[in-house]
Amino acid sequence: MPDGTANAAPTPLPLFVQLADQPCLVVGAGTVAVRKIDALLRAGADVTVVAPTLCPAAESLAASASVRMQRREFRETDVPGQLLVVAATGRPRVNRQVFQACRAGGVLVNTVDDAALCSATFPAVVARGSVAVAVSTGGASPALARHIRERIEAVLPAGTGRLAEFLRRHRRAFNAKLADAGARRRFWDAALDGPAPDLIEAGDEAAAMRVLERQAQGAPAAAGLVSLVGAGPGDPDLLTIKALRALQRADVVYYDNLVSAAVLERCRRDARRVYVGKRRAFGGTRQAEINQLLLAGARKGLRVARLKGGDPFLFGRGGEEVETLGEHGVDFEVIPGVTAALGCAAYAGIPLTHRDWAQSVRFVTGHLQGGELNLDWPELAKPGQTLVVYMGLAGLSRMAAQLMQHGVDADMPVATVSRGTLPEQAVVVAPLANIAEAVERAGVPAPTTTIIGRVVSLRGRLRP
Ligand code: SAH
Repeated sequence: MPDGTANAAPTPLPLFVQLADQPCLVVGAGTVAVRKIDALLRAGADVTVVAPTLCPAAESLAASASVRMQRREFRETDVPGQLLVVAATGRPRVNRQVFQACRAGGVLVNTVDDAALCSATFPAVVARGSVAVAVSTGGASPALARHIRERIEAVLPAGTGRLAEFLRRHRRAFNAKLADAGARRRFWDAALDGPAPDLIEAGDEAAAMRVLERQAQGAPAAAGLVSLVGAGPGDPDLLTIKALRALQRADVVYYDNLVSAAVLERCRRDARRVYVGKRRAFGGTRQAEINQLLLAGARKGLRVARLKGGDPFLFGRGGEEVETLGEHGVDFEVIPGVTAALGCAAYAGIPLTHRDWAQSVRFVTGHLQGGELNLDWPELAKPGQTLVVYMGLAGLSRMAAQLMQHGVDADMPVATVSRGTLPEQAVVVAPLANIAEAVERAGVPAPTTTIIGRVVSLRGRLRP
């Protein structure tokens, strides 16, 4: 090893080995060995197991005859002719003996839990059909490998396997239509950047074929796609995997007030971010202008994300936006989000229903009209339910007064959650009769969601 690198282990060569019908040996038949045997069998290997004693799972493998079982101690003569040997005896002396026999015979060997006795390691794997992503830390830390794998799990779409199969089936036919290697590379890059993968992953292969045929003839990928994305209440880790993926692919993101800065940071680095919230002045009505922006983006072939706080279809006018897109024949998708009620309740430690206290929950929003809220009070005042009120603080005292007038106890517990799920979340708890005053005194900032019902009293018990 050259000077100066004496402490750095050489990087192992990642390699996907085709094991179908290849001879592989597992030494040991405990529970860890069984996991390795399973992995080898899944790869189609011809597996021999050598072990004097077998755990119950190994016994059932032996009974199913899927492996050749040799009930005895390991011998060095077991090694020649194997492609890969796994030492999983849990006995250091035997493992070392296996390792040395493999070394001498030029056979790859993996020793469980002993990186020093490995010429091959099993990576942590993320699999989607025939697509496999393998993670190795060169034996430094299996826990780190698993941690990295989890993150890859989160971003690799479930439909990736389906996409790979589609490409396997159609690759040659498209290649035949293209002049040379350069044209093929450009075509496939554009194809994977375009809408075809989404269509395939969603199961619409016919539409994907139409898009690809057009692209193969040199036409730009069809019109863009608008994703109406639920941003959740603020904590970016509450984005769904699908939402994150849409933000990572977007060329332009239109967002408004309720979308937290931390969520915006999860957008693709070079995506254009455009604020279209209430503080921005528009020529016409805000909603009509936003609809036009979305349409124009899609028509340019862009991937447009319309990012809305919480869930786009709950008190968010998301319905109106997609209606316009549909009328103009623009492709769109709707990605749900964690709505404020659910985020605030969970982060404040309040279950919204409870066997004894609330068998239903209502999400309500109220607009003040001439100082009054226009709501169905007798319904809202019924017992056995939880109310979650999506509303600023302006109407809170009116709300409380009306509920009490319609029969709700003055001591009904209420929680107002300010900036729920964000690091600065604050919760004010008070009886219905005092909540408006308590919130005002606390001076908590918008947005706030108010939860009214017996379940609020469970809060103390559910917080760590
Ligand atoms: N579509 C959104 C709601 C939009 S209406 C959703 O599904 O959550 C706007 C109201 O949502 C606000 O007035 C407030 O009552 C509530 N809200 C949104 N985010 C919130 C948060 N982080 N904390 C508390 N309330 C929130």
